[in-house]
Amino acid sequence: MIIVLKPRITKKEEAAVIREIRKLGYTPHIMRGVARTVIGAIGDERTHVSLEPLATWPQVESVTPIQKRYKLVSREAHPSDSTVSARGVAIGGRKVQIMAGPCSVENEKQLLQTAVAVKEAGATILRGGAFKPRTSPYEFQGLGEKGLKLLAKARKETGLPVITELLSENHAEMVADYADILQIGTRNAQNFQLLIAAAKTGKPVLLKRGMCMKTEEWLLAGEYILAHGNPGLLFCERGIRTFDTYTRNTLDLAMVPILKSETHLPVVVDPSQGTGKASLVTAMCKGAIAMGADALLIEVHPNPAEAWSDGAQQVTLDGFRRLMEEIQPFITAVGRE
Ligand code: PEP
Ligand code: MN
Repeated sequence: MIIVLKPRITKKEEAAVIREIRKLGYTPHIMRGVARTVIGAIGDERTHVSLEPLATWPQVESVTPIQKRYKLVSREAHPSDSTVSARGVAIGGRKVQIMAGPCSVENEKQLLQTAVAVKEAGATILRGGAFKPRTSPYEFQGLGEKGLKLLAKARKETGLPVITELLSENHAEMVADYADILQIGTRNAQNFQLLIAAAKTGKPVLLKRGMCMKTEEWLLAGEYILAHGNPGLLFCERGIRTFDTYTRNTLDLAMVPILKSETHLPVVVDPSQGTGKASLVTAMCKGAIAMGADALLIEVHPNPAEAWSDGAQQVTLDGFRRLMEEIQPFITAVGRE
């Protein structure tokens, strides 16, 4: 059920509604907007007393059932856009945020050189994988905690918040100690225990789309994060498997307006995994911005030819500078910064 409270009610009146929701056996998820507070009450309405009588309370504007299977992530539950903040960088506001950095953290020089260069070019968040989900067990698996330490060092030097992938429940606390945003990769997008562990760290979670995932499945995976008490969710389109092998994946840009209408949460696009080709990244960034993306996740490497992972899709430091210049008119055209 969605309980919308009237504007300008007192804290006491709000608390009374929350108490009643709990008393009837539901879990309240409180979303405070600029004008009013909306409460998503989650519980099985077949086994609990109905919440509909709350509609008669003077401080309540409306009580509406949520028709969709996903509830807390849905636009129905929360009509205005949500923003998610990582160390003061707000994703989902006027500014299109640019997350950039290498696919994998390889060594200090590579990471710091990239971090400084992407910051200079205008990136606002640093990406870098320390735990890498590689198709083959013989490929570079990431530096692990050493990589996380290097990310923390790069953050200290540049001031950029850091996003990195969480691969295992066992590492949730450790990765959350270093990172500002936890990335859940395409291969784990429906690893529900991992999603719960990520949610419980309290850090914002960027949930990539599973490579064979339908829209509803993705939204329901995101629901796990909010249902476990973490409102900081970002959806990231990174391409899906199709019959075509010209590109590594088929980047589904239609997902941006679809997510924008289905959910209130910020939408990120990853044109690097999305195409697998550095030469296509700038064009897809322009498209993503035009579709309404709130942020981009871009792989950048000082020497892509020698990268330890995903060399073909990483742009060079110079390439990234040019990319940033080229996308600016598109950002302005959609009325953003
Ligand atoms: C990555 O960002 O480097 C990565 C492994 O992403 P995905 O899970 O989308 O393949
Ligand atoms: Mn990669």
